[in-house]
Amino acid sequence: MQRQPVVIANWKMNGNRQLAKQMAEALREEAGLLSQVQVVVCPPAVLLPAWQQHVFYDAVHLGAQDVNEFEHGAHTGEHSLALLGEAGAEYILIGHSERRQHYGDTDARISAKVNAVLNYQAQQLKVVLCVGETEAERETHQTTTVVEAQLSAALEQVTAAQMTHVVIAYEPVWAIGTGKTASPAQAQEVHRFIRSWLQQKYAAADTVPLLYGGSVKADNAETLFAEQDIDGGLIGGASLEPDAFVAICRAA
Ligand code: PGA
Repeated sequence: MQRQPVVIANWKMNGNRQLAKQMAEALREEAGLLSQVQVVVCPPAVLLPAWQQHVFYDAVHLGAQDVNEFEHGAHTGEHSLALLGEAGAEYILIGHSERRQHYGDTDARISAKVNAVLNYQAQQLKVVLCVGETEAERETHQTTTVVEAQLSAALEQVTAAQMTHVVIAYEPVWAIGTGKTASPAQAQEVHRFIRSWLQQKYAAADTVPLLYGGSVKADNAETLFAEQDIDGGLIGGASLEPDAFVAICRAA
């Protein structure tokens, strides 16, 4: 089964209108590349409208970095699916380790957010579920146990049919923003594990894109993406530099 490569930019709390313009212009030059690689940009939510002005919808896709699981109401500071969808988001990152660690994203909340996206009737949106172990967990040989627990909790109520709208990003916490990248073999080992977990649980597992994230740069992307079960990347720091990001998309 040939899966289309996917590369997602996670700007986190960075960037501005100017960068949106520069990045959109850099990507617009790459029409051939964009027809082969699914490129998704997740800027801070307030920049989605700035992207909408620059982006050709069928070429570059937009995403949000998080969502509130409720439809609307008294949730000061939060964004609903309706708001994000109207602003152009097609993908929603859920369970990024920064949100798990610092912003109260428990397994239960992550599961509620996944279900909210996949059951949202007004628009077909996609989930990008982030999983990954800490350094201490890796050192104590708990990587696959932790990843499996995160997958089971987040996807507990998800059906095989809904899995066609799910992307999974393996992001070892120790590799995020640290410059320490998992080696291609380390990343592939966990991706293989995730793929076989998906195969056991869902018949359509072969179609789920599995992305690696954690200090992916222009100079290491190619060897990571060459691994059999790595279908692309979730890119933080390097997604803020148009040239580096385009080079990473090319490597996919
Ligand atoms: P990084 O971030 O590429 O800066 O390590 C990846 C992420 O957090 O998604």
